[in-house]
Amino acid sequence: MVKINITTANGFSAYELQKVEAAQQVLNNILNSDKFKERVLHFSTNGLYRFHYRKSFLGNWIDKPYSNSDVYRMLTQPDGAEANAIDLKLEMLPGGDVEQLGYTNPDTQHIYTYRNWFNSLSLAGYTSHLAHEWCHQLGFNHESKPTEKNEYSVPFGIGKITENIAWEC
Ligand SMILES: [Zn+2]
Repeated sequence: MVKINITTANGFSAYELQKVEAAQQVLNNILNSDKFKERVLHFSTNGLYRFHYRKSFLGNWIDKPYSNSDVYRMLTQPDGAEANAIDLKLEMLPGGDVEQLGYTNPDTQHIYTYRNWFNSLSLAGYTSHLAHEWCHQLGFNHESKPTEKNEYSVPFGIGKITENIAWEC
């Protein structure tokens, strides 16, 4: 069992915090569900059960394949976390951005979300965004510009699985 904690939520109104708390609950339920485990283990890229893992090293993109069960284990049993706690530190940013919903600062691990996106996203969409950014916290990456391969990266793949399950709930 994994437990999502929102340890910081800066810049959110009381009303907006209700959506944050709802997403926390939904994400918590999804990460602990058999459905999530099943879909992560069966995620396929080019007919193989794997994610397209991309990480940059000295400016070059490299693939370091993790098996689907490695990815599942990393997501739901984070190393060193007490009682498998996932701590999310959330920050609201004013305005919006054309493409990005937000981002994770790799140094502080704070998750930033643009207010325009926050307000236009469904609960499932926001929950998916948190799942995507949680993957970044774990070091999984993708290219900054949209590419076909990005869909098979861990952040986008896990985000999509999370969003689909959230809509089914
Ligand atoms: Zn991302």
